[in-house]
Amino acid sequence: MERIKMTTPLVEMDGDEMTRILWKMIKDELIIPFIDLKTEYYDLGLPNRDKTEDRVTTDSALAAMKYGVAVKCATITPNAQRMNEYRLHKMWKSPNGTIRSIMDGTVFRTPITIPSIKPAVRNWQRPITIARHAYGDVYKGVEMKVDEPGKAKLVFEGQSGSTKEIEIHDFNGAGIIQGMHNTDKSIRSFAHSCFKYALDCRQDLWFATKDTISKTYDATFRQIFEDIYENEYHATFEQAGITYFYTLIDDAVARVIRSKGGFVWACKNYDGDVMSDMLSTAFGSLAMMTSVLVSPDGKYEYEAAHGTVTRHYYKYLRGEETSTNPMATIFAWSGALRKRGELDGNAALRQFADRLEQACLGTLNDGIATKDLTGLMEGLEPQSVTSLAFIREIRRRLEQA
Ligand code: NAD
Repeated sequence: MERIKMTTPLVEMDGDEMTRILWKMIKDELIIPFIDLKTEYYDLGLPNRDKTEDRVTTDSALAAMKYGVAVKCATITPNAQRMNEYRLHKMWKSPNGTIRSIMDGTVFRTPITIPSIKPAVRNWQRPITIARHAYGDVYKGVEMKVDEPGKAKLVFEGQSGSTKEIEIHDFNGAGIIQGMHNTDKSIRSFAHSCFKYALDCRQDLWFATKDTISKTYDATFRQIFEDIYENEYHATFEQAGITYFYTLIDDAVARVIRSKGGFVWACKNYDGDVMSDMLSTAFGSLAMMTSVLVSPDGKYEYEAAHGTVTRHYYKYLRGEETSTNPMATIFAWSGALRKRGELDGNAALRQFADRLEQACLGTLNDGIATKDLTGLMEGLEPQSVTSLAFIREIRRRLEQA
């Protein structure tokens, strides 16, 4: 069989623990036999990040910006315990944080759905993608406790010498204060990533804030989205037959629950933090959640939403076979290959991505699944298999296709 040729390399970001083991299985069984794979390889495994003083993470993100499409394996974000375990020189920062800040991107998370795993919300017929603005607000907030009567003020000192001042509260006694910010630049990037992504997947875009209460802060988010939409995306949205829909966050939550799904929901930082966990739980499993980082100028980094599945890795190290779910990592590969195919006008690559996903879904629909899913499946007698057996079943279906 002739393998599919590629013209531009994918940026490949390898990772840690159990997902690193799955990574190799996926490449060996599902990618390399079918594609004459071209990648620019970056080893983001913790030992190599330590060895390169984390240079490799920055280099990989710069390569993603250069080539436009990357696929990333889950990686460890070091903490005190990992410092010991890996004898690290430094507590290196989260690779995802580093990559996100270089690409200035927004993360879109979408569940992989199958008929036998019913979402907790019965009327959801199609996946809901959530986009979280990952900069500022309460996450970059400063806070203060006061313990006597007094006035709290918000003061801005402009570089030009101008000042602005506003009273926050005249305290009678003890209390708490918080200051937070965002920047027009970051909100604009967020908006562009969201409009681009909605166009990409031809789905409506929803956005919501609490601008009835927050008449300057949240209203600025609404206004920036509206301006960018009207000036740059309205016409293309109409051509694509999709809409941009703005509403209040409380109304959005109610509508999401009553909806059939099948749209992109852009959320401010805190809303996205809370709502993405609600959605992934309601759709079934973290192991079935894909994630793509999209930069405002349309560069993509695909990955699974879950971590390195440490508990399974320790089992693997003890020589046991594990039943770790590779679906989200396989979909990271198919997503990246499809996007590479689109950008390069490589129809064979695009079609392969579709076939790979169909083979994965076909395997699950035949009741063959990893252990995390068998308990969730309804209406069939699922058979629980190891990761490798599951991947080989996918391969068999792919070869038949
Ligand atoms: P995790 O996602 O690895 O695991 C959370 C829980 O979900 C565990 O019970 C795990 O068994 C289960 N789970 C997750 N994915 C699964 C899969 N594919 N198949 C079967 N079960 C699955 O998160 P964690 O335990 O909080 O973190 C482990 C490591 O992963 C940490 O070092 C953390 O820094 C890292 N992490 C990385 C990313 C990333 O790279 N995007 C994201 C989250 C966590």
